[in-house]
Amino acid sequence: MADNNKLIIITAPSGAGKTSITRHLMKTFPQLAFSISAATRQPRGTEKDGVDYHFITIEEFQTKIQHNEFVEWEMVYEGKYYGTLKTELARIWSENKIPVLDIDVKGAIHVQQQYPDSSLSLFIQAPSVEELKKRLESRGTETAESLAARINKASYELSFKDQFNKIITNDDFHRACGEAEDIVAGFIAS
Ligand code: 5GP
Repeated sequence: MADNNKLIIITAPSGAGKTSITRHLMKTFPQLAFSISAATRQPRGTEKDGVDYHFITIEEFQTKIQHNEFVEWEMVYEGKYYGTLKTELARIWSENKIPVLDIDVKGAIHVQQQYPDSSLSLFIQAPSVEELKKRLESRGTETAESLAARINKASYELSFKDQFNKIITNDDFHRACGEAEDIVAGFIAS
């Protein structure tokens, strides 16, 4: 690929292991830089503003929408906005690195449409909906209702998987990381 402004989009239904695979790729390839999204939810645990997300208010987020500052944005959960800032991609490209966007399925489709020739999109899936259900249950954070909602959402998101460049099945974490590494290495070298 001749020009440098490449980007990598990683997406998945929840519970597929996307975040762990993304972290693994970030550690493996110094050429990559994590794209820090803007989000209106509260920080969790050890999360830091400007590291995990740019945590902003709903009003600030809406102003940024009006000023056309996002490459894409979505209300991923009821009342919670998440979006990729144009300035964030520009900052990473100016450092001659490749941004890695860990974003939801709809957002991923929107970014891909804007960068069809310079993006690599990875769709991570759990081996089966049954397995996904087990993983979500073992997190212990779901009520019966929220579990059912997540499973429904995941089944819906799975229907978009063929729109992405590569589908990785997270049947075994190390195997899936190896597969992701090979694909990313090829993209970096292209
Ligand atoms: P969490 O609240 O668990 O950090 O993230 C919730 C979901 O929002 C995840 O699927 C994450 O990938 C997605 N997400 C994070 N940042 C963005 C973004 O900038 N745009 C979109 N569309 N989704 C995002």
